[in-house]
Amino acid sequence: MSDRWIEVAPRVWARRLKELDQTLGLVIGDDCCLVIDTGISAEAGFEYATAIREKTDLPWQVAYTHDHFDHWFGTSAFGESAVWAVGDGAQYIGRGDEQRTAWAARYRREGREEDARRIARSKLVPPNCQVKGAIGLNLGGRTVVLRQVGPAHSDNDMVIEVPDAGVLFAGDLLENGAAPSYDGAFPYEWPQAAEYLLSWKPKVVVPGHGDPADYWWARAQARDLAEMARLCAEVAQGFLSEEEALAHNPFGEAQMRAALDRCKALTPPPPEPQAAVAEPGPSLPPPVIVYDVLDYDIDMRR
Ligand SMILES: [Zn+2]
Repeated sequence: MSDRWIEVAPRVWARRLKELDQTLGLVIGDDCCLVIDTGISAEAGFEYATAIREKTDLPWQVAYTHDHFDHWFGTSAFGESAVWAVGDGAQYIGRGDEQRTAWAARYRREGREEDARRIARSKLVPPNCQVKGAIGLNLGGRTVVLRQVGPAHSDNDMVIEVPDAGVLFAGDLLENGAAPSYDGAFPYEWPQAAEYLLSWKPKVVVPGHGDPADYWWARAQARDLAEMARLCAEVAQGFLSEEEALAHNPFGEAQMRAALDRCKALTPPPPEPQAAVAEPGPSLPPPVIVYDVLDYDIDMRR
């Protein structure tokens, strides 16, 4: 499969990429367009920017669904522009550096030297406009909503709603064709966030990886996320064994293992057993307060 466009609603596009089965987004208004995520490297971003220029020559703004490298390492191809995200610039740069090293090493191990080099030399472009809660962005003739959700798939998830077209760009909160990734996720909170973002019943849901799908597909995945949270809780409470959870879950053994590990990492350790309290010694007598009693003998004759 080569990279291709899917028009999910009038002037709302999903860009399907071969690499990581990723799905980027494009919403076109009358005055400008919104680019949703930019790909794994400067080269991927350049290819995406070129593809967008075949659709529109309007100025663009960029939105990051979260700070995982495949969603924002391509932004240098978009030049100076507004870049919206929930996380702040310092967080993006710090985590971006870590991920760049880790993924370049991973690609190198897989024998993909050129891809490793591309990631290693991609210039990181941190967001310059922070979203807290939700904001409406007027693209001219249509307003999109950038909405903070979670923590769920990450601690800085953002979804993009296109209300006039009934389209939701869900980032990696939902994945089609592969299980959602629990690395760095919040298994207990995730289902609530998924329910919340579906509460306006979008017609089309565009996941961060895999094909766009409808509301009912998204709803079924939200239900699976809830089942994962329930399994994690029941293992934590000792009602189920880890083996049972690994054998009977909606997303497969690897994701269940990641979810269980993540729950353990997020659970504060039990308090240290207190050092045995020393037996109280023989009780001390209460303090004695001595009042001086003074006898006055006032001679009134003087
Ligand atoms: Zn992700």
